[in-house]
Amino acid sequence: MNLDIGVHMKGGVITERDSDFCTVRIRLPAGRISVDQLRGIANIAKKYGSGVVHCTTRQTIEIPHVLPASLPRIEKNLAKNGTPIGSERDEIVNIIACPGTERCKFANIDTISLAGKIDALLFGKEMPVKMRIAISGCPNSCTSPMLNEIGIMGRIRPVRKQGQCTGCGTCVQYCKERAIQIKNGVSILDPKKCVQCGVCIYSCPFDIIDAEHRHYLVLVGGRRGRHPHIGRELIAVETEEQVISVVRKIVNWVYRRAWSGRLLSDQMDDLQFETFKKEILQDIPKKK
Ligand code: SF4
Ligand code: SF4
Ligand code: SF4
Repeated sequence: MNLDIGVHMKGGVITERDSDFCTVRIRLPAGRISVDQLRGIANIAKKYGSGVVHCTTRQTIEIPHVLPASLPRIEKNLAKNGTPIGSERDEIVNIIACPGTERCKFANIDTISLAGKIDALLFGKEMPVKMRIAISGCPNSCTSPMLNEIGIMGRIRPVRKQGQCTGCGTCVQYCKERAIQIKNGVSILDPKKCVQCGVCIYSCPFDIIDAEHRHYLVLVGGRRGRHPHIGRELIAVETEEQVISVVRKIVNWVYRRAWSGRLLSDQMDDLQFETFKKEILQDIPKKK
């Protein structure tokens, strides 16, 4: 088997345990695919694989058990299907996202749109180390953004309008963080306990809790695997353009440090984080 030329060297081609076969991973930002494309993948898997596909933890689909000789034809057919070969090496790998405002009632941001834009800009970029990006529409963090090299989370900081609270306590019941109490007949919010999910805003029957600051929280330096690490909060920005600009800066920062050969999480030790933060946040407008 010759694994050193052309399509065999693509990041989305993985040699299997039985090295006569390989698995083809597909590029699927946010795990979104039309039913026609799904049918197309099924046909390709049936023709060139063992008749099964595998849905991965990073929201892609893999076609297992294909012969390396079939790879050029699989690549061509997948591209024609609009679902090209993906990545899994030291690259920007499949961007994952929860349903966001498209479908989830808890969502604070449009995760699908953001995943598509980041994918279009950065997917497959060769990097000195693997870079994973995950987007969640709210602090429920269904895609675990804090366990990726770059995580993005949609949040809303609530504020109660003055002088109109009836003290009904509905918001207290809805807040899972016990961040709201009724004192002297009105609701009082504890910002230290609040995770900025925004649920209380929608719970108030009198519509008197406002969204003061809807934003994208960017986390850096997380990872899963054998030495898991929780990412650190880098910045909160208010627009899709700003968050994309921050992501690009982080990717460029990592790219320029190719010599290090270390995962971003390893570079984010206490000594370097403040320097890193200063450099990345240059020219990015500050949050409110
Ligand atoms: S992270 Fe929040 S917005 Fe996204 S699916 Fe989970 S609950 Fe919904
Ligand atoms: S935003 Fe969420 S955590 Fe904060 S007070 Fe409202 S319901 Fe509680
Ligand atoms: S739900 Fe609205 S009116 Fe009721 S206590 Fe909370 S803020 Fe006040």
